[in-house]
Amino acid sequence: MVHNLVIIGSGPAGYTTALYAGRANVGPLMIDGGVGKGQELLGAGGQLMITTEVENYPGFEHGIQGPELMQIMRKQALRFGVEVVEELVSRVDFNVYPYKIWVNDDVYEAKTVVIATGASAKWIGLDEEKPAWEGGLGGRGVSACATCDGFFFRGKEVAVIGGGDTAMEEAIYLTNHASKVYVIHRRDTLRASKIMQERALKHPKIEFVWTSAVEKIHDPAEGKVTGVTLRNTVTGALSELALQGVFVAIGHKPNTEVFAGQIELDDAGYINTHHNVRTSKFAVFAAGDVQDHEYRQAITAAGTGCMAAIQAERLLEQLNVLSVDEATADW
Ligand SMILES: Cc1cc2nc3c(=O)[nH]c(=O)nc-3n(C[C@H](O)[C@H](O)[C@H](O)COP(=O)(O)OP(=O)(O)OC[C@H]3O[C@@H](n4cnc5c(N)ncnc54)[C@H](O)[C@@H]3O)c2cc1C
Repeated sequence: MVHNLVIIGSGPAGYTTALYAGRANVGPLMIDGGVGKGQELLGAGGQLMITTEVENYPGFEHGIQGPELMQIMRKQALRFGVEVVEELVSRVDFNVYPYKIWVNDDVYEAKTVVIATGASAKWIGLDEEKPAWEGGLGGRGVSACATCDGFFFRGKEVAVIGGGDTAMEEAIYLTNHASKVYVIHRRDTLRASKIMQERALKHPKIEFVWTSAVEKIHDPAEGKVTGVTLRNTVTGALSELALQGVFVAIGHKPNTEVFAGQIELDDAGYINTHHNVRTSKFAVFAAGDVQDHEYRQAITAAGTGCMAAIQAERLLEQLNVLSVDEATADW
């Protein structure tokens, strides 16, 4: 069976594509990411599954918890008949039409594809920060998710590494649990938006450690964190800071490994798009954070998911009267 539309990923972009395509009777199949690979690759629901309050998604006057919002999006999409495969896509072949998408040994064929695989947290690259499922310390001392692991640090001193919005959000969230939160940043200015900066800078529990990089996390062999060694990025001087938890919040990497060589990516690995959501390959669309390094918001992801669904539906209509070669000429 050749599917009209296969949606890869189930964050706000994927669910919105599914909702629109389902209501248009396209009969989409969604491969939702399953349980993912922990913090390296989040599973079904995507990034909002690891956050708390979402205050800027329209329609929720008093805000909503991220996981609850994703549950609602899933249920809304399922109402309109999307079929869901709870797995990760392992390989694709966009060279022969209809396209092939593999989930391990199972192969799905598609006339149109929407890639909505989002982005994943970056690690700083120290051995000590390896997450638990790789035999590291995740959850016990080093984490990339304050919402998941903040609870384990009640009354303790922790550090957040980074200077962007995610770092500020993580730091502010951690003040609910920790007695003190250091924000360790390589530079002397922040990349975070003004409002997030202001909230963090004036928070009594947050202390900024400027122009500093973490060189080493102490005592991972004992299954805990007792401190970090810092290197001053201007003078090179080393110093130590005692604390019990490290939260890495240095940004995200688009989840595009499985598409490398199949569609055009930019230098950072984001999918290049034209006409809003068209990729370099005929009938393959990309929506959400996987093609957006500028806005990276739930609402923009949902918005591009809507565009992708509408464009896919129009293309399927065209394919009823045009050959693939004719339709490709217009791409
Ligand atoms: C801590 C945190 C807090 C945030 N707070 C807010 C906020 O308050 N407001 C806001 O608007 N935005 C917020 N964001 C940003 C928002 O979460 C993202 O912009 C949004 O989730 C992007 O949606 P997406 O659908 O593009 O991708 P994602 O949400 O990243 O979802 C990607 C999906 O693709 C799946 N996937 C990945 N690879 C594969 C594969 N190979 N096969 C199948 N599936 C795959 C994943 O499992 C996941 O389901 C926050 C982000 C973080 C990390």
